[in-house]
Amino acid sequence: MKKWKYFGLFFIFSLIILLFILYPKASAITNDLKLFGRIIFIDAGHGGRDSGTTHGKILEKDINLEISKKLEEKLVSEGAIVYMTRDEDEDLSSKWDERKKRGDLYRRLLLYKKYNAELYLSIHLNYGSNPKWSGAEVLYHPINPLNEKLGEILMKNFKEDFKTRRTLKKTDLYMYRNTTIPGVLIECGFLSNANERYLLQKEDYQRKIANTITNSVIEFFENTQIEE
Ligand SMILES: [Zn+2]
Repeated sequence: MKKWKYFGLFFIFSLIILLFILYPKASAITNDLKLFGRIIFIDAGHGGRDSGTTHGKILEKDINLEISKKLEEKLVSEGAIVYMTRDEDEDLSSKWDERKKRGDLYRRLLLYKKYNAELYLSIHLNYGSNPKWSGAEVLYHPINPLNEKLGEILMKNFKEDFKTRRTLKKTDLYMYRNTTIPGVLIECGFLSNANERYLLQKEDYQRKIANTITNSVIEFFENTQIEE
């Protein structure tokens, strides 16, 4: 009987030691994942019947989706839980919608609510009347005071990584003035600029954009207290 008692004690003791050994490793893994458990929505702009801006056969909606998929991959690798408003070539309007575009945007907003997103990132491309214009540009609506902060971090990092000379701007578009969770609209570059149009279609360049956005999101969460 006594022997079993000692064995039982030894077993419990070993279990405690094992927990002490394993705990730092488990917490080290979650500490390395800088976006662990963050719920982020990527909104790949346009899709389906809505191509967005175009240049010949090059469509904004396609490049938006490519960048969004790479961004999803990168955010997930940092531990984030990522949802996409679309992951193929479709728009979110219904055949019953009188105004298709408005219906499409409204359903994107409903998705944010349904999945309790903490942050949204709308991915788009620009088109300028002057073909010389180039560079990424971030736009925000002041409905949430954190939007400007996120926009500033993104713009700073785009300046560092891509040497863009564009600046943070405000937007009053329907979708952004109706979204209360933090988030911004990112115009990743100009389809109207020949050099940037070439680059935006390249996988490496799309990946570089995804990295800059991910690093900015990490910086944002490290410096921000989000109210639950
Ligand atoms: Zn667009």
